[in-house]
Amino acid sequence: MMRTLLWGFIVFILVVFGIPLLMAYSNISSRSDERTGQTTPDVAIDVFIESEGAIQAMPLEEYLKGVVAAEMPASFHEEALKAQAVVARTYAVRRMRIFGGPGSQEHPGADISTDPVLGQAWISKKQCRQRWGFFGYLRYWPKIETAVRETEGLVIVYRNRLIDPVYHSTCGGHTEDSEDVWSGQEPYLRGKPCPYDIGSPYYGTVQDISYDEMAARLGLDALALKTGREGQDTFIQILKVGRGGHTSMVRVGDKEMTANEFRLALGLRSAKFTWRLLPDGVRFVTDGYGHGVGLCQYGADGMARRGYGFEEIIKYYYTGVQVVPMFRE
Ligand SMILES: [Zn+2]
Repeated sequence: MMRTLLWGFIVFILVVFGIPLLMAYSNISSRSDERTGQTTPDVAIDVFIESEGAIQAMPLEEYLKGVVAAEMPASFHEEALKAQAVVARTYAVRRMRIFGGPGSQEHPGADISTDPVLGQAWISKKQCRQRWGFFGYLRYWPKIETAVRETEGLVIVYRNRLIDPVYHSTCGGHTEDSEDVWSGQEPYLRGKPCPYDIGSPYYGTVQDISYDEMAARLGLDALALKTGREGQDTFIQILKVGRGGHTSMVRVGDKEMTANEFRLALGLRSAKFTWRLLPDGVRFVTDGYGHGVGLCQYGADGMARRGYGFEEIIKYYYTGVQVVPMFRE
């Protein structure tokens, strides 16, 4: 009788104290990075939410899910989503004040903004549900969670320093050296052949722009632009082309500019373009979407579908880099 009572007491103690202890322990150990066996502490990032005009603090790894959801089609291959997660983490960590980054210049008190022009795009779970619908959400959200979880804490470095992991939608067959698009020459941003983005919908995009609109957007004199049309061969002059085939420098009328400025001012999808003069404007045909430097997202998906892993994808588009855990013991 006494023995039974004693055993009952032991079982009671185990149930009351043992199970919560075990749960707490397993909760702690689940924070451990499976690949490296290292523990990733929870880090909060202060995000300026453009749609709300307010700063919201959230765990970095949670924030990254919203970035991957916003920046890459969720239908992409899991390994491409993982590459995007590592890119997004690297981009964020470089800017976080807790790690010595500058934070958001436009929004003091925040580390980063959800405006894709100022930071990287981010959407909430609610916005994901609206975007994908109920069944789409059930299908895609776990995919994105997996991509972030399975790359937890991983960032991209070049010679032990975080890189600026620029990326774009579609390079159009070959990426560019950074100095052919912007002024800075980065050793890890070298042009690479990209036969992998051929499935992208952003090939052969036709865009018509009227002369008046061109003059307004480029800050050119409308009359001078009209006169310039008469010498049709020299109306738009390509001064320099990058190794990936994107125009690097261009002259329109009497104005010289980088092709990147030209593309952004006119709203062209890419600086890899041909054109034809129409009676009332110019018809541009572009290949690709975005600046063409760094990781090509459609290319990443193409590589993933050919069996490449996220690390191989990252190392392909960023020359000489390593993928490492951000916290080392
Ligand atoms: Zn590409």
